[in-house]
Amino acid sequence: MPATAHPAFRKAAHYLGVDVVTVPVDPETFRADPDAVRDAITPRTILVVCSAPSYPQGVMDPVEEIAAIAADAGVLCHVDACVGGWVLPWLREQGRDVPPFDLSVPGVTSLSCDLHKYGYAPKGASVVLFADEALRRRAYYASAEWPGYTVINATVQSSRSAGPLAAAWATLRTLGADGYRELAASAMAAADRLREGVAAIPGLRVLGDPAVPLVAVTSDDPALDVFVLADEARARGWFFQPQLGYQGIPANLHFTLTGVTDVEALLAALAEAAEAAREAGPPDVPSDLVDALQALDLDAMTDAEFAGLLQAVGVELDGPGEPEMAFVNTVLNALPPATREALLIRFLSVLYSDAL
Ligand SMILES: *Cc1c(COP(=O)(O)O)cnc(C)c1O
Repeated sequence: MPATAHPAFRKAAHYLGVDVVTVPVDPETFRADPDAVRDAITPRTILVVCSAPSYPQGVMDPVEEIAAIAADAGVLCHVDACVGGWVLPWLREQGRDVPPFDLSVPGVTSLSCDLHKYGYAPKGASVVLFADEALRRRAYYASAEWPGYTVINATVQSSRSAGPLAAAWATLRTLGADGYRELAASAMAAADRLREGVAAIPGLRVLGDPAVPLVAVTSDDPALDVFVLADEARARGWFFQPQLGYQGIPANLHFTLTGVTDVEALLAALAEAAEAAREAGPPDVPSDLVDALQALDLDAMTDAEFAGLLQAVGVELDGPGEPEMAFVNTVLNALPPATREALLIRFLSVLYSDAL
């Protein structure tokens, strides 16, 4: 899978005991590289993944090329249209350039689409489509091997609430095709306006060419730190989602625009926060702290000891006011992904412990 594929695949692989092989994306367009996918396929490959679009920069992977490569190799190909599946068709209808990405593309064997993204439904109901009915049946589970009621499940969860299904159904029926057309158009217009507005703010730049209303904004100016910008925006009532640097892709802020985003207010907050962030400058993170964290033997530490360490470096977990996330994000950004993961798991564990 491309480096930009959603961690949901890593989580599934983690549970199923499957190895994930990552291929880099193009450093300018952030789209998956079909040649790299072809080179990565081996006789042990069970699935090729591509995104329509990928979340981090909202860009479309070359689905047709990748699916053809997978088909040639006799490997299943899943298209992750979780974020794009419910908005791309309307955008295409409105004349936007949307390359083929669905089950009509030869070689695509399955596709996922989240109703809780651009379907505007509550979380808890989602969609996976299979090109082949025999493959779809493999997703179902039945057991008659006990003396109780016979089990038949369509999902990993067994007993599950019909509430989210009913809510998704009601949302889809209520908005209807016309509602989604309108929401897609206004969300994409908001994204266009955001891109235009970002271009007018010195130091800021949009990453790639998003096909859906997802916009990633980075800073080319070392004096303008995106994590500080996010904190300044939060102080003004806005949450700008930080994305850490990864495999040469710079740290950035991610915006998911919807059909009801007040983009003018968002742009005003962005411009104001950028100015304040430039004035404040980047956070002061001692370089030996990053080294010390990397050398830390977390397995030998209790939650109480880890909580004490956080306190010692100035991260107040139960203090008053808002934590300075720019400091935390800058530290995490300087660390390799495995260390980021280990620290975050420790952090979560402390939050749920009596160490505070
Ligand atoms: C949201 C999303 C997913 C699924 O994540 P959930 O946490 O289950 O919502 C998968 N892929 C992409 C591209 C997404 O944007």
